[in-house]
Amino acid sequence: MSRRPDSPGSATVLEELAARASALDAGDPLAAQRERFVLPDGVVYLDGNSLGALPAAVPEALADAVHRQWGEGLIRSWNEHRWWQAPLRVGDTIGRLLGAAPGQTVVGDSTTVHLFNALTAAARLRPARRLLLTDPGHFPTDVYIADSVARLLGLEVLRVAVDDLPRCLAERGHEVAVAGYSPVDYRTGELYDMAAVTRAVQGAGAVMLWDLCHAAGALPVRLDELGVDLAVGCGYKFLSGGPGAPAFLYIARRHQDAFDQPLTGWNGHADPFALRGEYAPARGVERARIGTPPILSLLALEAALTAFEGVGMDQVRAKSLSLTGFFMDCADALLDGLGFTVVTPRQPHRRGSQVALRHPEAYPLVSALAARGVIGDMRAPDLLRFGVNSLYVSHHDVLTAVRHLRQAVTLREHLEPRHRQRAAVT
Ligand SMILES: *Cc1c(COP(=O)(O)O)cnc(C)c1O
Repeated sequence: MSRRPDSPGSATVLEELAARASALDAGDPLAAQRERFVLPDGVVYLDGNSLGALPAAVPEALADAVHRQWGEGLIRSWNEHRWWQAPLRVGDTIGRLLGAAPGQTVVGDSTTVHLFNALTAAARLRPARRLLLTDPGHFPTDVYIADSVARLLGLEVLRVAVDDLPRCLAERGHEVAVAGYSPVDYRTGELYDMAAVTRAVQGAGAVMLWDLCHAAGALPVRLDELGVDLAVGCGYKFLSGGPGAPAFLYIARRHQDAFDQPLTGWNGHADPFALRGEYAPARGVERARIGTPPILSLLALEAALTAFEGVGMDQVRAKSLSLTGFFMDCADALLDGLGFTVVTPRQPHRRGSQVALRHPEAYPLVSALAARGVIGDMRAPDLLRFGVNSLYVSHHDVLTAVRHLRQAVTLREHLEPRHRQRAAVT
């Protein structure tokens, strides 16, 4: 007698998934890190790839920065609390997560601003070449800035997908000044081979600029080992530095003397307090400073980064793969026949720290999920995105999220008018 397969969502299937989640969570060496975050009760947070959750160390550090350092110390705190050194100090802390030795990473400003500086400086490192390469699927700001830099410098942007890079570089590599790419596709979560792309770009004599917004704090990045030239990335996604947290810029030491950025602000001057009339860049990565940095945000980010203390990025990666793999298993078991397609690659080495599902009703479904206490997000037109941060997401959270998604869609909650009204931020 053949046994009928259990239908999706049946009690047996759910019990099996719950047992797996319990076993995986029980064996999770990072389980205790969740204590380092403040998360509201009853919420499953799968949007840490857009805005990281609040690290428990941040409120106290911010209160101290405001009341004691600013309120009492006043301007003396630039020296006494080493505010002036914060961009490089926090840069080195982030550098440790990126495989970057100290003295190559600076923090302040936004990713967008760093992109402008880095792309322009990269083009100036290759003055005889007139092409900028970028990914047609790149996050829009990266493409917009590349286009603007090209207009300013009289260069041309080619939008070339990662898979087409070898062909493009073989044909026109000698004309390429800089290639700006992200290791993780922010929509699908696809992970590219950073080592291979870096080799190919540099093999053509071009500068490799990586945007690490979806990699920093999510997976091991070996900037020094791979010989990457330049990198940028934001502080508020997997680094959990808070809304609008300052972003970082990495300049490999060998490029620092020649790094000529367009935004020549006084903080990057060799002798900023001499207040000279002529610009002379500081030595080292300090020259990539621009103007006065947002100290409160920098100190919040610095406190947030303590959540990574004692945690290896290889552990973060192993758990992230376990979470995303389990997510896809739950989706296979519980969402079959409900109109979803998993678009994130199944092979572990080809996915970042998120799972994306395609569904024509992505927006109202994400809204209906949020009403059930499961926070993910959507990317137009039809992707539901679920980011997993290994420091505070559990396998049970993943199962809860997929169960709620199944319920929301089978109960047709996404058809309710309140879930069809678009908010300003999606
Ligand atoms: C999130 C993200 C940004 C954000 O840039 P901001 O200047 O912080 O708004 C840029 N690029 C990529 C690839 C991103 O994922």
